[in-house]
Amino acid sequence: MVVVMSAHARPEDVEAIVVTVERAGGSAFVSRGVERTIIGLIGDIELFLGLNLARLPGVADVVRISAPYKLVSRAHHDATSTVTVRGVPIGPGHFAFIAGPCAVETREQTLAAAQMAKDAGAVLLRGGAYKPRTSPYAFQGLGPIGLEILAEAREATGLPVVTEVVDAADVPLVAQWADMLQVGTRNAQNFGLLQAVGAAGRPVLLKRGLTATYEEWLMAAEYVAQRGNLDIVLCERGVRSFEPAIRNMLDISAVPMIHAMSHLPVIVDPSHAAGRRDLVVPLARAGIAAGADGVIVDVHPHPEAALCDGPQALFGEDLAALAAAVAAVTAGR
Ligand code: PEP
Ligand code: MN
Repeated sequence: MVVVMSAHARPEDVEAIVVTVERAGGSAFVSRGVERTIIGLIGDIELFLGLNLARLPGVADVVRISAPYKLVSRAHHDATSTVTVRGVPIGPGHFAFIAGPCAVETREQTLAAAQMAKDAGAVLLRGGAYKPRTSPYAFQGLGPIGLEILAEAREATGLPVVTEVVDAADVPLVAQWADMLQVGTRNAQNFGLLQAVGAAGRPVLLKRGLTATYEEWLMAAEYVAQRGNLDIVLCERGVRSFEPAIRNMLDISAVPMIHAMSHLPVIVDPSHAAGRRDLVVPLARAGIAAGADGVIVDVHPHPEAALCDGPQALFGEDLAALAAAVAAVTAGR
């Protein structure tokens, strides 16, 4: 069950709900969103119904939810939410065009990629300082130095930065430098990390696990939300399939399905889905046509020399083609 507070609810109204629920033996999790506060109730539904919470001051609605995810469910929030990252809104009417290098390799490479992103009209800069690599022998990222380089790229371009965190122990440091924390596909069910990210006070970009069902994905988001953070953007990045020609299969159905199941914005990552440059723009167009709230793509000044995911990195001219496709679709929305 979820209690939706009115936009004008006072802190003491929220507190009164929490106290009432806890006195009755239930648990209450408060999530303060940009527009309003919602309170997820865990415990005996019949008992909560008997409390008649709807009559308490500041309550806009009390919603019974049968899905296992509550705070991220569409049931209590009819419209897709807007998540704001350092002043940049992502959500309905605010398409998020995100671009940047897969990995922060050097200062020059990152600043060049960031400028390419900026020139193409991106609103956010992506780039990994901590890389979750399949092989322990592969480039693992620059770590803290990479975070400093990203901050410099933000300074140079004005673009807020989204970057991945792979270990709960690194969350405070990454949150200090980044504007949005990314949880990658390999960590999409690392519940300790999700909780740490949820408590970090930064918006979160949550990728879909390689083999996660929609419900598992939303339950992962629920871990973040339960720590009081509803500023979550979901990212479809392709799932494992039987087809070896592509790295992963971009699940276009995920966009309208997640919109139906959850109020969280959904973006697509055609770069990590395809693993090859020539498919990135067509897949991005498909995601946009399906209603995605944004796209996130890899770009590199010299893809042939990239230390990570070079074959999928766009050249500047590809990025311009994508920008044109984005502009064409978003103009009509
Ligand atoms: C990334 O975006 O850099 C990344 C590693 O993506 P994913 O977790 O989707 O593989
Ligand atoms: Mn990558």
